[in-house]
Amino acid sequence: MLDLLAAPPTALKPLIWLVAGLPVLLGMEAWARLLHDKLWHGPLWSLHASHHLPRSGPFERNDAFAVLHALLAIPMMLYGCVGPAGLLREALFGISLGMTGFGLSYAVVHDGLVHGRLPVAFLRRWAWIRRIEAAHKVHHRDGAAPYGLFRGPEELRRIATKNRRSRAA
Ligand SMILES: [Zn+2]
Ligand SMILES: [Zn+2]
Repeated sequence: MLDLLAAPPTALKPLIWLVAGLPVLLGMEAWARLLHDKLWHGPLWSLHASHHLPRSGPFERNDAFAVLHALLAIPMMLYGCVGPAGLLREALFGISLGMTGFGLSYAVVHDGLVHGRLPVAFLRRWAWIRRIEAAHKVHHRDGAAPYGLFRGPEELRRIATKNRRSRAA
């Protein structure tokens, strides 16, 4: 049986972080889209509405969602740093890296670039970033899909294809 508390060899640790963290990093987009669609634009609209209105100070109530995810990632990262040696510790460290990587990317592209909260306008030199920004602006214009960020352009394409098909039917 796999012993979660047996210390893995040091050379293997980065591999464990990658195997545990990469699916989390990639899967967070679907997770964020689901929450944004079903909860933020549903029962938790009272918090998210602040993001769809002009901001009056440096923060908005919607920032609570980022804090919530950080509060999940921080204990995992701490366990990954000072917890008892073992596979569990390395896996949790990897997961926390994946979550943090997504959270930072989201904060930089969404809050920083699209909503102008960080001096990162240089990111617009890349066409794929401009497409992400344009797709997110559709979300703000319509208050509807795309709910994802990084795959927002794909979401829009899927919707357009579906609409074309239903018009043709
Ligand atoms: Zn936004
Ligand atoms: Zn929204």
